[in-house]
Amino acid sequence: MHAGEEGGADYIWVALDILKIKRIDHGNNCLQDEILVKEIIKRDLALTVCPLSNTALQVVSDLKDHSLKKMMDLGLQITINSDDPTYFGGQVNQNYIDTQKALNLTKKDLHQLAKNSFKYSFLKENKKEDFIKELDKYYLNNK
Ligand SMILES: [Zn+2]
Repeated sequence: MHAGEEGGADYIWVALDILKIKRIDHGNNCLQDEILVKEIIKRDLALTVCPLSNTALQVVSDLKDHSLKKMMDLGLQITINSDDPTYFGGQVNQNYIDTQKALNLTKKDLHQLAKNSFKYSFLKENKKEDFIKELDKYYLNNK
């Protein structure tokens, strides 16, 4: 469910309570509401964050001020994504590269973000495990 990029935390509550969603697209503005953050963590929902879309739409004016790392530190499950790259610029790799530079993300952070993208995808469980195994192996060999 697409909620909480430009809209506020109240939109995310509606998505949670009425629509019984499994994943929140964007969700940046959950940070306005501490109880909502706890609820998202409790329900183990991922937020598919799109940093370059966020700067294009002026949700944040500079990527250096993006809350992605703060969200991770709070215990939210975050993934990095592109969002209509034709409009907002940047495929998923560019989102990773620019966000890593702006927020000084570590290899450990990037590993977690990539892992989440499989864990919270809609793939079958055995497929998720295969991809995560491959990712973990790559991470361990390139730490
Ligand atoms: Zn979007």
